[in-house]
Amino acid sequence: MIHKFDTVIVGSGGAGLYAALEASKKSKTAVLSKLYPIRSHTGAAQGGISAALGNVEEDKAEWHAFDTVKGGDYLVDQQAAKILAEEAIQAVYDLENRGLPFNRTPEGKIDQRRFGGHTRNFGEGPVRRACYSADRTGHMILQTLYQQCIKNDVAFFDEFQVVDLLLDGTTCHGVVVVELSTGELHIFAAKAVLFATGGFGRIFKITSNAYANSGDGPALCARRGIPLEDMEFFQFHPTGIMGLGILISEAVRGEGGILRNRSGERFMEGYSPTLLDLAPRDIVSRSIQTEVRAGQGIRGDGKIDDYVHLDATHLGKEVLTSKLPDITDFCKTYLGIDPAEKPIPVLPTAHYAMGGIPTDVHGRVIIDNANTIVNGLYAAGECACVSVHGANRLGTNSLLDLVVFGRRAGQHVGDYVKQADMPQPKTSAADEARDWIDKLTDGTAGPHGGHISDEMQVTMMEKVGIYRNENDMGTAVDEINELRERYKTVRVQDTTKQFNTDLLEIIELGNLLDLSLITAASALNRQESRGAHSREDFPDRDDDKWLVHSLAYLEGDSVRLEEKTVDTSIWEPKPRTY
Ligand SMILES: Cc1cc2nc3c(=O)[nH]c(=O)nc-3n(C[C@H](O)[C@H](O)[C@H](O)COP(=O)(O)OP(=O)(O)OC[C@H]3O[C@@H](n4cnc5c(N)ncnc54)[C@H](O)[C@@H]3O)c2cc1C
Repeated sequence: MIHKFDTVIVGSGGAGLYAALEASKKSKTAVLSKLYPIRSHTGAAQGGISAALGNVEEDKAEWHAFDTVKGGDYLVDQQAAKILAEEAIQAVYDLENRGLPFNRTPEGKIDQRRFGGHTRNFGEGPVRRACYSADRTGHMILQTLYQQCIKNDVAFFDEFQVVDLLLDGTTCHGVVVVELSTGELHIFAAKAVLFATGGFGRIFKITSNAYANSGDGPALCARRGIPLEDMEFFQFHPTGIMGLGILISEAVRGEGGILRNRSGERFMEGYSPTLLDLAPRDIVSRSIQTEVRAGQGIRGDGKIDDYVHLDATHLGKEVLTSKLPDITDFCKTYLGIDPAEKPIPVLPTAHYAMGGIPTDVHGRVIIDNANTIVNGLYAAGECACVSVHGANRLGTNSLLDLVVFGRRAGQHVGDYVKQADMPQPKTSAADEARDWIDKLTDGTAGPHGGHISDEMQVTMMEKVGIYRNENDMGTAVDEINELRERYKTVRVQDTTKQFNTDLLEIIELGNLLDLSLITAASALNRQESRGAHSREDFPDRDDDKWLVHSLAYLEGDSVRLEEKTVDTSIWEPKPRTY
């Protein structure tokens, strides 16, 4: 079946819904989502959304932009960071006006709390910049935006999974989609397509990310010749529940929680004397792993899965139940611990993709280092790289990125489609996807996807994790390519058409394998340590050679890497101390 819309938005997380709100004002807009919209991972975001409102103490957008650039270890495009910080203020008030129930100060203003790497006056000390709704901020954003989209009659196609992108040279014509309930293939012809498909933490064994975070948007783009930017930078959040990876929000440390090693020491004093437990995430995660390696983990055996304690006992029941209710529940459910009484066992967990589909500040996808645009193709949110997070994202800047750049992209799309022609794809445009699905479900025997997935996640966790070196990453590239080879003969056992989640998971695995390869190859290529990319064999940042974005092109079994200039037009890169 062929559908026609001016604008097709793929993804109904914060980025997709904000873009839909804007685009639908000026164009006939459809939102396709493989999940019911409010099950998108944005709903799991806990801690907050940053904006220099200055409600609790003095703050300025300029300080916010600077923190973002420095937090990203100077790989951030600085004009984009300026836009992020300046537009943050209106964005948060817009959310408030649309009905988002933020926590309040006693005077009735939006309350704000501390988060890692956010400082006053260019690094003097922590500042209260994160606006929050208890520890359910993402949930509230998603609910608010979804209700607004329903009110504005946006057309939703829920449980529709996009499997291919239709590109003709440098113009986008639409997408090919499987409808989960029937197994039917649909073509959505569109003047513009906007990807807002979220992250891909599922390439790693221990992750805070939902099962659906399989990086479909970036993988589809990569297979159609679009490069992916800065894929070597993947953030490990310092505090996942030990062994499970479920996130314990940075808000716990924002409210005063302290990390301790087996001797009970507040070890961040030795790594970040000014910001302590609220240093940027790359620094805190490395510090935890260094403690563990030195036998200072709680077990003291130096093994990679030893852990440390996040101590929130001194915050008291009152603060925990009013400001961190979900976290308190998680600890009780998954650990059998009341955080008011006992410290929480934590370990870093794969959390956030700084890299993704390269875009300009209007969300337009670019295809090379001369910033050539793909007509009618947009990306926003975690799947995109604009780049405001550089080599390491600051906490609360992602929800902000969704809102600011989701909105900008939606506005640009709305104007673009007015002058674009409606493409006329034939049903044969879905043939490639149909042949592939027919093969996967032809009933013959083949390897099981589950084993391939497990091996991929272990390889990425152990060899392309927090600390990296040439030997391990080289092995990872080979191992992932072997898994990609095995994947070519994979088959699903369930060959029915209706609700074939087995099939859709296999398709997602193909995406994760491609992104694993691109991540490992990009990391192997960058011979320096910067932000979340920390190499034992190249421990220093090397601005002379590596103050550049990487663009990775997937070409069969190999990845071709090119460089793109970083915008450093406001602040000169300096060594990063906290
Ligand atoms: C546990 C957790 C807590 C977090 N807390 C915070 C926080 O406090 N503050 C902060 O700033 N950031 C936080 N983050 C990060 C932030 O929440 C995410 O980066 C952000 O929500 C991603 O939003 P998105 O709109 O890009 O994608 P998502 O919300 O992940 O949505 C992706 C959408 O794409 C759709 N989709 C994907 N593939 C397809 C396909 N093939 N076909 C059709 N649809 C598809 C999905 O159905 C979904 O609707 C947190 C992340 C996690 C995992």
